[in-house]
Amino acid sequence: MPAPEIIYTNAKVITMAESFDEACNGLTDTAEAFATLDGRVTGVGSNQEVLATGGPRTRIVDLKGATVLPGFIDAHSHFPGSGLQGIRWTDLSAPPNGLVRNIASLVEEMGRWAGHSDGWVLGRGYDQTLLTETRHPTRWELDGVSPDRPVWVWHASGHMGVGNSRSLEVAGITANSANPTGGYIDKDPVSGQPTGLLQEAAARLIEREIPPPSGSERDLAAAHAMREYLGVGVTTSIIAGGDLPALEDLRRWRRAGTLAMRVIMMQWSNPTVTELTGDLEGEGDDWLSLGAHGESVHDGSLQGYTGYLSQPYFKVAADSGYDPSWRGFPIESRETLTERVSDLARLGLRSAIHANGDAAIDDLLFAYAAAADGSQACFRWRIEHAQTVRDDQLDRFNDLHISPSFFVSHVYYWGDQHRDTFLGLERARRISPLKSAIERGIRFSIHLDSPVVPMNPLHAVWCAVNRLTRSGQVLGPEERVTPHLALRAVTIDAAWQNLIDDTRGSIEPGKLADFVILAENPLTIDPLGIKDIEVLEVRIAGEPVHCINGTNEPGKAGRTDDVHN
Ligand SMILES: [Zn+2]
Ligand SMILES: [Zn+2]
Repeated sequence: MPAPEIIYTNAKVITMAESFDEACNGLTDTAEAFATLDGRVTGVGSNQEVLATGGPRTRIVDLKGATVLPGFIDAHSHFPGSGLQGIRWTDLSAPPNGLVRNIASLVEEMGRWAGHSDGWVLGRGYDQTLLTETRHPTRWELDGVSPDRPVWVWHASGHMGVGNSRSLEVAGITANSANPTGGYIDKDPVSGQPTGLLQEAAARLIEREIPPPSGSERDLAAAHAMREYLGVGVTTSIIAGGDLPALEDLRRWRRAGTLAMRVIMMQWSNPTVTELTGDLEGEGDDWLSLGAHGESVHDGSLQGYTGYLSQPYFKVAADSGYDPSWRGFPIESRETLTERVSDLARLGLRSAIHANGDAAIDDLLFAYAAAADGSQACFRWRIEHAQTVRDDQLDRFNDLHISPSFFVSHVYYWGDQHRDTFLGLERARRISPLKSAIERGIRFSIHLDSPVVPMNPLHAVWCAVNRLTRSGQVLGPEERVTPHLALRAVTIDAAWQNLIDDTRGSIEPGKLADFVILAENPLTIDPLGIKDIEVLEVRIAGEPVHCINGTNEPGKAGRTDDVHN
C-alpha cells in the first residue's frame, strides 16, 4: 500500500462511521488523525497509528485541535437557484435574512431593482406572514413598481407569487380565467378581478412567460451558488428536480472544470418521466450524476394555505377568500400519483415526492403501498419535507421502506406562524418530528431547500437540536434531537438515503476525501452556538475548495499554513 499524500493530525475527527456509534455511543471523538491519497481517505485512527503509515514524501498537517466532519450532503435544494439573486431577481425576504418588512418596502425594493434590469422585474422570498400587513401584495400595488413592464414576485416557498397587471395581461389571465388543475387564481370577492396572487399550477401560467436566464447568467449564478454552498461545508448537493437543460448546464460546467462541488440531479418526474437516465450513461461519476430518485410535488406550502391537511387550517383571515373548513389541496389524484410511482419504479427510479400536509402524506403512503413490487426501486422512497407527518404515518415508514427528508428549519423560520395561524399549538409543536422518527428507527436527511432559506447545514442542525423559533421560543421541545443525531442527517444518513454511502457520508478508509474543518466541536459546544461555528476549510477529493482566509492554495489554509513538513 503506497504511503499517504497527507496525514492530518491532532484533530477531533467525528467520522460518522457506524463504528463511531458502537464504540463511543456518539458522545466522544473516535479519531485524532486521518490520511488521504488520490482523493480518498486511506486511514483513520490515533496520531500514532496513522503517522506510522507515512512515507518520506507524506505531508503532515497539524490541525491543532480543530474538529473534522465528513463533507455535508445537501439532500434537497435547487442549485444554482440562489445564485440568481442579484442577477435575475432581487431578494424580498424579511429580517434577519433580508430587509422587507411591509408592502411599501417590498414595492420600494422592486422599484430599485427595476432600475437595474430589463424586461421582467422579478423578486423572490417575500412572506406575507412576516409583512406588517400579514397579506400578499396585490397586482395594483405592484403596478406601482411599473405599470408597463411585467412584474412578478415569488413567495418564499416558491409555490406561489403575485404579478402586476401587465404580467397578468402577458399570461392572458382575466376575470374569466378558470383555475388550472392543481392551481388557484385568487380573485377579488366583489369585483371578480384577479388580485395577482397565483398559487401552484396557476403560478406556472406566469412562469412560462418569463424568459429563462441566459447561458452566461446561469454560469455566473452557478459560480455564486457554489461559493455559497462550499463556504458552509456542502460537498455534495442533490438537486431536487432538474430537466434536460439543467443537466446540459451541469455537464458544461463539468467539462469546463468549473464544477467545484459534487452535484447529483434528481430528475423531474412530473408531469412526465423524462427518462434522462440513459442520457448520462457512462458519463456519471463522483462529481456529476443523476439521482436514484425522481422528484415531483404533491401539495403546496402550509404558510401559503396550499399544504394539503387532513384537518382544517387553524385560522383563516376573514378577508382571505378561504372558508374556515379550508384544508389545502393535492396537486393530483392518488391514482395518477400511483401510476407515476410505478412508472418510475419500472425505470429503476425511486420516487421523491414533496408533501407538507398530512393528507398529502396519506396519498403518498397509498401510492407507495400500491406501487411496491419488491424491486430495488421500491426501497428508500423519499418524502420531501414531511412537515406535518403524524405518528400513525411514521409507524408505516419502515414497512414501506420510506426515508423522509425533513425541512426542519421551518421550526425557526415559520414556527411562530404555524403555532399562531396555520396549525395551532398541538400540530405546530410536532412539525418535522425528528425525535419521533428516530424512536421508530427511521433514517432521514434534513435539508434547507435553498433558495427557500439560505444554505447552511449547521443552521439546520442547530434547528433540529434547539427547535427555537424566530421569536426565540422553543416549539415542541420533545422533538429535539442530539447534535450527533442531527449531524447524521447531513452526513451518513443523507448518503444512505440517496444510495451514495459507499463513497460518502463518513470519514473511513476507501471513501472520498470530502471533509470540513470546523473551529468548534458541535458535539460539545453549547448547542445554541452550533449555527455560528466557523467553517475553516472544506476539502473535496482532498483538495481545498474553501478556506476561511480566502486562499484556495493547497496547504495554505486556515490553521494549517505553517505546519507542513
Ligand atoms: Zn418542496
Ligand atoms: Zn424544494
